[in-house]
Amino acid sequence: MNGEPDLYVGGQWRHASDGGTREIVNPADGSVAAVVDEATDADARDAVSAARAAFDDGAWPATPVAERAALLDQIADLLQRDREDLALLETRDTGKTLAESRIDIDDVTSVFRYYAKLVGVQADRVIDVGDPDVISRVVREPIGVCVLIAPWNYPLLQMSWKIAPALGAGCTMVAKPSEVTPLSTIAFVHLLEEAGVPAGVVNLVQGSGAALGAALTDNGAVDFISFTGGLATGRTIAKVAAEHVTKVAVELGGKNPHIVFADIGTADAWDAAVDQVLTGVFLHSGQVCSAGTRLIVEESIADEFVAALVERAEQIRMGDGMDPASETGPLVSEQHRAKVEAHVASAISEGAKLVTGGSRPSDPALAAGSFYLPTIFDQCDRSMAIVQEETFGPILTVERFTDEAEAIRLGNDTEYGLAAGVRTSDPARGERVVRALRHGTVWLNDFGYYTAAAEWGGYGKSGNGRELGPTGLAEYQELKHIWHNVAPKPAGWFKGV
Ligand code: NAD
Repeated sequence: MNGEPDLYVGGQWRHASDGGTREIVNPADGSVAAVVDEATDADARDAVSAARAAFDDGAWPATPVAERAALLDQIADLLQRDREDLALLETRDTGKTLAESRIDIDDVTSVFRYYAKLVGVQADRVIDVGDPDVISRVVREPIGVCVLIAPWNYPLLQMSWKIAPALGAGCTMVAKPSEVTPLSTIAFVHLLEEAGVPAGVVNLVQGSGAALGAALTDNGAVDFISFTGGLATGRTIAKVAAEHVTKVAVELGGKNPHIVFADIGTADAWDAAVDQVLTGVFLHSGQVCSAGTRLIVEESIADEFVAALVERAEQIRMGDGMDPASETGPLVSEQHRAKVEAHVASAISEGAKLVTGGSRPSDPALAAGSFYLPTIFDQCDRSMAIVQEETFGPILTVERFTDEAEAIRLGNDTEYGLAAGVRTSDPARGERVVRALRHGTVWLNDFGYYTAAAEWGGYGKSGNGRELGPTGLAEYQELKHIWHNVAPKPAGWFKGV
């Protein structure tokens, strides 16, 4: 960073082989936050080779689980030691508020703590095959060389959901953060080195998917690709990897419904519903895969509910994430803001009714940043692109329903299936609707929360595989069945000589 080498291959920091660099822009004001090395195809191939050598010839895959668990705990300690520095980098890079970045680093820490505990208690499965001479067991082994590709919205958080279980399982890996937001991951790999992760176990390259994609995904030396990002990229990677029969897990986008029934309940529950619908869609300016972008509200309360949303949305304080007074920051880049603006224009042309936002803020103090106002469209329907396609910005669409069946139908009417919310004071209805929704996470009278101990992932085109929880570790493991006969006898199906 800023002249120091940023690529980490085989335990050595190095510059790009062609000397290439990239300017990392602070989206709050358009300034250059840092200049980092930009890897070439050859650098990425070196990184895969280093991970391969560390897996095939190194000690890490066979390191006792207690030692692996201790290393994960040590990493968690260092994350907390460097919490403020990492949070500052994340805010400069993504634009999110410092308060959010601190929460991200705490969440990253909790993922390392969780897997430190889990790897220590995973046991082999012993099977009784009905023969006292046979010991049959299924053991877990590291899957091998992993390529870990992360997006820009939660740079270190998304990467930690991959690195922690991969290390815990005994894998070696190449991490590729988004080229838009690599800063926290570079700092984190320095921290891994300090913690004593052996050379070659974690390798780091940053650069565009176009430049590095072939080396990282169209590569028979790779055993597993864990990708988080957009649907189109996920599809491309899965196709390329299929040629090598490489296992792939893809965590993709979402178009997440938040269903509000008229029986929300007390005034406090109403207040919480308004607050959480807004939090669900406008936190981090809507750049959240599980953002509740589709409000599906019962007709009888819709006008009053939308009016309450608009009133509060207009009071959200926007500004540089470094300013403690800011409640939300900018979009990640000018390029991304242009995409959001195009979606808004298409919604208007399709007949959605703009009730607030729909433009850049007028405050001259924000003019240099990639800010966009919290935006709400009423009178939306499922034929509109703004209802079906992921915008990944601060845009809420409102659809209305008249009965429970229609609410469920609307909630499931998306090609994605990442997350959903349901608000009702009727527990039986809550349970019915939660079970009927085809989404990987469903919140009942809450929105947006998760824990390292519970699986995260999507139905439909939101992806396959799961991160976090025991399944998030199992993704990085192969299962081997060992059949051990302690008193071997002839099979006896032929006479022989
Ligand atoms: P993206 O697909 O553009 O990029 C994601 C990563 O893939 C980046 O590191 C990029 O450089 C890399 N990449 C691009 N093309 C590649 C290729 N051909 N081969 C290999 N790597 C390639 O996504 P983004 O814009 O960075 O992130 C936003 C998307 O991520 C949204 O769709 C969001 O919903 C999704 N997301 C999903 C989850 C989840 O848990 N399901 C979490 C966060 C973000």
